[in-house]
Amino acid sequence: MVKVGIGQDSHRIQEPAAGKTLVLGGLALKEDYALEGNSDSDVVLHAITNAISGITGKPVLGPTADKLCRAGQTDSAAYLKVAMDDLASIGYRIGHVSVTLECKRPKILPILPAMVQRLKELLGVSGNDIGITATTGEGLTDFGKGLGIQAFACVTAART
Ligand SMILES: [Zn+2]
Repeated sequence: MVKVGIGQDSHRIQEPAAGKTLVLGGLALKEDYALEGNSDSDVVLHAITNAISGITGKPVLGPTADKLCRAGQTDSAAYLKVAMDDLASIGYRIGHVSVTLECKRPKILPILPAMVQRLKELLGVSGNDIGITATTGEGLTDFGKGLGIQAFACVTAART
């Protein structure tokens, strides 16, 4: 039995970064802008977390993540971990993760191998089980205009 979950997230770009680091797909990037939000605002991990919640039926982003955030946990990997624990608790493990990003900046292609590697570590899957694509969408939306970043994730999970 295979289950599929879809997740989405977006954050507005904060410029100047004002001391905040741009974090994307678990990677801390050296840019002079960051993403707005109370946590590290990692849209990739948030979209994946939402996709896993789409399988478990247990939302993590929202009250659960807000509570962690208030307790000082701003690392989105911690929210992802909660969703993965929920997935394990229903007897499922991640099979494949597909992520697509819409943004003008940063350029995704140069950081793609590092992002795949980081997601492998965080999700406990092989590199072949992660696919990431990105587009500027020809600048038709605010994401494509460089005002924010949007991510969608599709996760399949199989019974352990
Ligand atoms: Zn988010």
